[in-house]
Parts: sequence; structure tokens; C-alpha cells
Amino acid sequence: MIHFKHIGHRLLAAVGGIVILGIAAIAVTYAMRQEASSIQQAESALGKVTDSVGEGLKALMMGGHAKAAPDFASRLNNVPNVIDYRIVRIDGMQAFIDNTTVLKVNERLGEFEFTGRKNDPPPQRAISGDDPGLERMRQTGKRVFSYRTLPGGERLVTVFSPIHAAAACQKCHGEDETLRGAITLTASMKEIDSDVERTWRLSVLVIVAALAAIVALIYWFAHRTVVSRIVEFLGAMETAAVGDMSVRLRAGGRDELGRMARSFNHMNEELFAIYGSLREERNKLNTIIHGATSGIVVTDALQKVVLVNRAAEEILGRNEADIIARGFLHLFDDPAWMEARIADAAKGQSATLLEWKGKVLSIQASTIRHGDGAIIGSAALIRDITEEHRLETELKQQSITDALTGLHNRRHLDEVLITEYKRWQRYAQPLSVMMVDVDHFKKFNDTHGHDCGDRVLAAIGAVLRSLAAPALIPCRYGGEEMLVIMPGILEAQAMAFAETVRLRISELVIDGLQVTVSIGVAGQPGHEAVDGEALVKLADEALYDAKENGRNQVRRPLPGA
Ligand code: GH3
Ligand code: MG
Ligand code: MG
Repeated sequence: MIHFKHIGHRLLAAVGGIVILGIAAIAVTYAMRQEASSIQQAESALGKVTDSVGEGLKALMMGGHAKAAPDFASRLNNVPNVIDYRIVRIDGMQAFIDNTTVLKVNERLGEFEFTGRKNDPPPQRAISGDDPGLERMRQTGKRVFSYRTLPGGERLVTVFSPIHAAAACQKCHGEDETLRGAITLTASMKEIDSDVERTWRLSVLVIVAALAAIVALIYWFAHRTVVSRIVEFLGAMETAAVGDMSVRLRAGGRDELGRMARSFNHMNEELFAIYGSLREERNKLNTIIHGATSGIVVTDALQKVVLVNRAAEEILGRNEADIIARGFLHLFDDPAWMEARIADAAKGQSATLLEWKGKVLSIQASTIRHGDGAIIGSAALIRDITEEHRLETELKQQSITDALTGLHNRRHLDEVLITEYKRWQRYAQPLSVMMVDVDHFKKFNDTHGHDCGDRVLAAIGAVLRSLAAPALIPCRYGGEEMLVIMPGILEAQAMAFAETVRLRISELVIDGLQVTVSIGVAGQPGHEAVDGEALVKLADEALYDAKENGRNQVRRPLPGA
């Protein structure tokens, strides 16, 4: 199958091919008829020659001049193109050579000796007895033409013209044979063949000339009426395809091409309008996307990144090309994590927080679907909430912190106490508390002022914070009383820690002044306390005991408490 690049060539091939086949058929038919006619004419001419010679021979024989027959027949040599002639008997033997017939005639007539007798020359064969031409003539009794080609290519025709035995002939030759013999004439077909060849050559010339003319005509016509306009259409469509919809076609003519041009122009106008409004919408959307403070990264259905806004570049600390090159799954380095987010999005889960390179990010992945539900991409909405998160943490910290001492406040104390006491109850994790109370603080305030008292409380808070391991929770219980919750610490260990605290506070010098504290400790295991509050009460009782016993000391509940 041939593929044409140009419609003009295809038209040319189709129409040209059909026309050429037609012309070739006509020319070949014409040439064949010419050939048949030439051969028929030649055969007719040869037939006439042999007929006339046959008639002449018959007349000579009737007149009793059989002797002159060979000379008469030799006139055939003068016929143009004749190569050979023979007068043969019905068995193919040369006539008028030997005395066979003469003897037979004399025998039949008996009266006188036939004058044509020669001196007994041997009989000669002119044609093979089973020559197909001769055989055919014998069978049909009619003139037969036989053709053969010489090694050099020259064609020869041999005509076998029958010599019928008329009633007059039978007088001398007897009644046995109705066919006496034949005049055979062999002529060259050279002239006829070269005539035929000329006809063929002319036909080919006509075909070639007609072909050239037709091709030129079709090409010119097709180009003028169809191809040039289609090329124009193509140019306009290619221009429109790359987005330039201002292109218009010549809309003349009422034919299909004219209508096509008008439809194209109309379509282009419509598209131009739609494209314009789409572009406007896209510009708006682009402005929104690129102006957004949240990072936006969008992919196509194959997860190739197709959109990265400025905020995303800023948050991720990479430029657009880098983000595209790394791919959607590597936005935050760990592809498995990102895949999990996409899976979350498919389940409709909301944003996930991620601490990444010193930032706190809120990431909302989502799957973008077509109207029919097919997935056409993914999107990640990334918000840098580092500052928000810091403020929130700070606020949370503040809400559970006592401003003066920097310790946890009472609200937090109550919550932790419940939680930790449950942990002791469920898992038998030891839990101790120590209650710290400043000695004679009322008097201190009265003597040195409330502000000075506040500074003392702040300094005690700092001591507690610095000494408490991360697992310990130092809180302000209320007024000048502080409670340290000690998960995982046995009462005896808590006593030692309380002693350290007491000692450190007694060493503090604030505004040149010093204070002491009394501490009550209580811890589980070891007591019957039903809840955290009861344990604190035990510590408070131990504190009271310390006060009673002279202050500036650490006490635990009395045995059995
Ligand atoms: P004791 O040795 O028996 O504990 O004697 P005390 O005077 O310390 O008695 P108590 O513990 O009952 O006294 C509490 C005093 O603590 C009352 C109040 O003046 C003082 N106080 C409570 N809260 C604050 C505070 O926030 N700032 C200051 N400066 N003083 C406080
Ligand atoms: Mg007190
Ligand atoms: Mg006190």
C-alpha cells in the first residue's frame, strides 16, 4: 500500500490511474485489431495468389499442357516476399518431377503415350507427409495457413491451398481422389510484423503522450480547485491549533470547500470568544494561586507535578524546577509518608501536621477527580504554621503556668494528680508528693513588704524548677504553698529530694534576706490514701507536723497514717 503525503498526489494517482487504464485498454484493443487486420489482409492476398495459380494450372492441364505447369507455377517466385513455393501431391511429394502420375495417366488412357514423360528421375519429397498444415488441409479440404518462426526471429507463413479434382480432371486421373494436391507458398511476415510493431509503438507513444497530458491536466485542475484550498485550510488549522484564533479563510464559493471555510471561520470566532473568557478565568485563578500564602502543588493523573506556586517554593525552600524534578512523592523527602497522606485524602481525612526542617507544616493532600469519578491528579495544600504553632504552644504553656513562680498552676496540678494517681492504682507505679510551705511568711511580708515576698516566692519557684528532673511536676498549690508531684518516686526517695530542696532554699539570699521552708512528704506505696487529694492531705498533715516541730524541716506521715 502506497502512502501519499499530499492529497494532490493521491488525486493524481486515483484519477490518472483510471484514465491510463482506459487509454491503455483502448490502445491495446486498437493495436490488436490492427495486427489481426494486417494478418487477415496478408492471408487474403496470399490466398488469391495461390487461387489464381491453381486456376492457371487447371487450365493448362485441361488444355493438355501439363508439361508447362512447373514453368507456369514458377511465376510465384515473382510475388514479393515469397521465399518458397511448391506444387505437391496430396501425400506431400513434389509434383511434376518424377513420372509416377504420367505413368498412371497413360495406363488409364491406354491409347497414347503421355508426352510429359521424363527420363525416370527419382521422386522427391517436398513436404513431410504428416505436416500439420497439410494434414489440416486434407481434413478440411480448405485453404490452411501455418505459421512458424525462424531462429533469427523472422516469422514465416505457409499457405496450403488445395487443388480439387474436378470432374474434368477425373478423366485422366481417375475418380479415386477428390483432392489432387496442393499449392504451398511460404512467405516472410517481416513487412507485416514490422507494420504491427509500428502500430504497437504508436500505441505506446499515444499512451505516454496522453498520460503526460492527463497528469498535467489533473494536477493543474486538482491543484487549482482542491489542493491549494486544502493547503490553505491546513495552514489556518495549524495556526489555530497553536492558539492563534484570529486566522480566517477566504469564504468564497457555494461548494463544500466554501461552506467548510465559512464553518471554520465561524468556529474560530466562537472558539476565540470562549478561549478569551477561559484565559481571563485562568489569569484570575493564576493570580489567586500564585498570590496565595499557602503552598500549592498539583499533579496530573500520572503524578507528574504540573503546578507549583510561589508560596510552595518558599515553604519547601526549593525552586519550581527542582520540585518538579524531585516529584510529588518527594515533596517532604519521605515518599512513603506522602503516599500515606494521599491515601488519607482518598478517605476524606483532613490536614496533617509535619515538623520538617525546623518548620511546622500543615499538609492537606487531596485527590482531584473528573466529573465521572476518574482520578486526574493530586494536590497538596501546604501551610507554614510554625509561628501559629509556636504561639499556640506558648499559650497552652501559659494557661498551665503560674506567672509569679514559673511553676505549673493549680489547674494543671489537679489534672496531673488525677492522672498520676490512676497510674499508681492501675500499674502500681510509685507516686510521691511533697508540700512546701514558707515559714512565717505572713510576718516576712509584714516586715519586708509584699513585693519582696513575691520575689522570695519566685526564687523558690526557680529552685524547684532547677532541681526537679523532667519527670517531676513542680506546681504552685496556692498562696505560698507549692506541691511537687513525683511520679515513679518512692516516699523515701522523695524525702531525700525534699531535704535537698529545703537546704537549697535555706541558702537563698533575696534582697539580703533569707527564708526557710517546711516540707511534708507522702508517697505510695505506704498509705491508705484513696485518691490524689488524700495523698496531698497526708503530705499537708506531715507539713503541719514539721511546723509543729519547729519548722525548717522535712516530715513524712507518722506510721499508720
Ligand atoms: P507558718 O510558718 O505557720 O506557715 O506561718 P505563716 O505566717 O507562713 O502562716 P501561713 O502559711 O498561714 O501564712 C500565709 C501567708 O502567706 C499569708 C500571706 O500574707 C502570705 N501570702 C500568701 N500568698 C502570697 C503571695 O502571693 N505573695 C506574698 N507576698 N505573700 C503571700
Ligand atoms: Mg501557708
Ligand atoms: Mg507559711
